[in-house]
Amino acid sequence: MTKIGLEIHCQLTKLESKLFCSCKANYREFKPNHNICPVCMGLPGSLPRLNQKAVKSATSIAMALSCETPEKIAFFRKNYFYPDLPKNFQITQLNVYGDMSVGGEGYVRVENKKIKIRRIQLEEDPGRIIYEGASERTKITLVDYNRAGTPLVEIVTDPDFESPRQVRVFLNILSDLLENLGVAEPGLEGAMRADGNVSIEGGSKVEIKNIGSFHDLEKALHFEITRQQSLSERDIEIAQETRHWDDRRKITISSRSKEEDQDYRYFLENDIPWVKIDQNTRDTLKENMPESISSKKERYVEKFDIAPQVAEIIASDKYYSKLFENAYSDQNAKDIANLITTDVIGFIDTKEKQQNSKITSKHLSDLIDAINSKIITRNSAKIALQEIMKSGKDTKDVLQEMDLGQVSDSSEIDAIISQIFEDEKQAVIDAKKRPETVNFLVGKVMQKTKGKADPVKTLELIKSKLNG
Ligand SMILES: [Zn+2]
Repeated sequence: MTKIGLEIHCQLTKLESKLFCSCKANYREFKPNHNICPVCMGLPGSLPRLNQKAVKSATSIAMALSCETPEKIAFFRKNYFYPDLPKNFQITQLNVYGDMSVGGEGYVRVENKKIKIRRIQLEEDPGRIIYEGASERTKITLVDYNRAGTPLVEIVTDPDFESPRQVRVFLNILSDLLENLGVAEPGLEGAMRADGNVSIEGGSKVEIKNIGSFHDLEKALHFEITRQQSLSERDIEIAQETRHWDDRRKITISSRSKEEDQDYRYFLENDIPWVKIDQNTRDTLKENMPESISSKKERYVEKFDIAPQVAEIIASDKYYSKLFENAYSDQNAKDIANLITTDVIGFIDTKEKQQNSKITSKHLSDLIDAINSKIITRNSAKIALQEIMKSGKDTKDVLQEMDLGQVSDSSEIDAIISQIFEDEKQAVIDAKKRPETVNFLVGKVMQKTKGKADPVKTLELIKSKLNG
């Protein structure tokens, strides 16, 4: 049986400052090495000062993942030398000697399977190493410390996954959950990263590091499982090792194990005393936690009779669920939900587009009102949406300016039908013989009226003309 475990790193991008100093957590806006100070550069004599909000954010992540959260937490030094680590140690957490990280013993449900969360720890992100050109052949390596000290949460799972596909489903659930909590923006470049470990029946555990995206993680896991299976079939021992994902060649390659198996000489970070997170704080965090995606979904399905797939799409995306929550009434909830999942999503399918869109909940409820009171057709609503997205103008004005009012006047539609019967003689003969081809004629009317003709009335009129 294949066993896969994950280590996910997620930056707390919604925080103002770094984990132990007042440099900005949002390092992305700065020129290289312009978001640094003596603390995050590890200069002698500087002392870390813990960002209390980071502890709270990390604790609420732990709570959302059904973890146990301790009364007090400790920080450790993980000692190693690497150019991106100015102090030569990383301040992180560990569950040893009776000390706890911000959370442990949680779980996430993935398609009826419980994936156990072993540990959640709060730590600092290192800086960034930038190679000029391909990393193997580079002559120049640059280090940018702007990221050093950014608050990072590491989530460690048990090896409970059975397939790369399950990993992907889990990561989607997890990133939606983190976004819903309002502590992270997993869509930002480098804000959420994952390493995996894989073992197959009878083999040792192999870790895969250096994976750039979730998409690559899935590929790396597939590659690694195939590699291990082929070794096993030839009776070659699978070595316990760390392998790196080579993004260019799409394979995993062995890293020199000596460097990886070093002893990190963990010891308590005495510059940061134990941090108490009392019951009161934890209760407040729990009370202020936003509604979870699964309970939101359930509510949509039960209260408004919205299809589970539709409810799932809306509930798991913060942007869509906000649009929905502020637009619905008991009467139009189902229509609003369908408008979002059939049309809005088609136009606003990336975080960037979500940010730039001028659509509001009021636009959506106005459009549904206009459709239901037969002022416009579904098709015109779609056209109006595109304009509203760009301009943010009032729905009424857009409908008027674009002349999108529905044509439901029988004599007007009848005149257009007569014209089309004249132009499409063969189609009329066909429709008389084979009634199922009538949609061609309906389509022609829609084309002529730019989608404004009332489709039900149009069909009725065409049918009666064919029979008459
Ligand atoms: Zn700093």
